[in-house]
Amino acid sequence: MRLLLVEDDSMLGAALKAGLQQDGHAVDWVRTADEADTAWIAVGKAAAYDAVVLDLGLPDGSGIDLLRRARQRRIATPVLIATARDRVADRIAGLDAGADDYMVKPIDLDELAARLRAIERRVIGRVESAIVIGEIAIDPATRSVVRAGQPLDLTARELAVLLALAKRPGVTLSRDQLIEALYGWEGSIESNAIDVHIHHLRRKLGADVIETQRGLGWRLAAVADR
Ligand code: CA
Repeated sequence: MRLLLVEDDSMLGAALKAGLQQDGHAVDWVRTADEADTAWIAVGKAAAYDAVVLDLGLPDGSGIDLLRRARQRRIATPVLIATARDRVADRIAGLDAGADDYMVKPIDLDELAARLRAIERRVIGRVESAIVIGEIAIDPATRSVVRAGQPLDLTARELAVLLALAKRPGVTLSRDQLIEALYGWEGSIESNAIDVHIHHLRRKLGADVIETQRGLGWRLAAVADR
């Protein structure tokens, strides 16, 4: 997923960003409410993120106000609040302001990753079911890929590339779009990283599952009739 992380604590922010990237997410990290507003709520930016991980106590404002402003503008990005505020009243206020989930610090990275997977399943589950191409079945909701009934062992980044393609079956995604789906602003990546992931995916899935559109990018092969 492409995530916006809003966290003013340097050590915690760096740890969360590294952990989420390790899990295959593209993470943009901002430290103030103002920066979060620019990255997320400003006109035309709303579709940029699949989810927001939101701290409440920010140096220049409250995460709750940010969340309320987003919802008032009909921005539906799923939001997971990650905060030190542990009172029941705070949780209720956060959820009522439009948050999808609420975690109290200290944040366990494995639990955060699992909660984000749950958010992703809810979002995808509304619109998509498993995609079948020949003997390959990709289920974006459960993040599982099987070949002839056998689960495939994909790396986090390979899975991220495949899911980015699977979320828009038949649509050609350019190298830049795939990089965007995989890495945050600051990620320095090798120019051929996407090609390497595609190469490995083809080896595991079969050569014809991902088609190259010369000069344009890649797309999933035609989906089988079911
Ligand atoms: Ca804080």
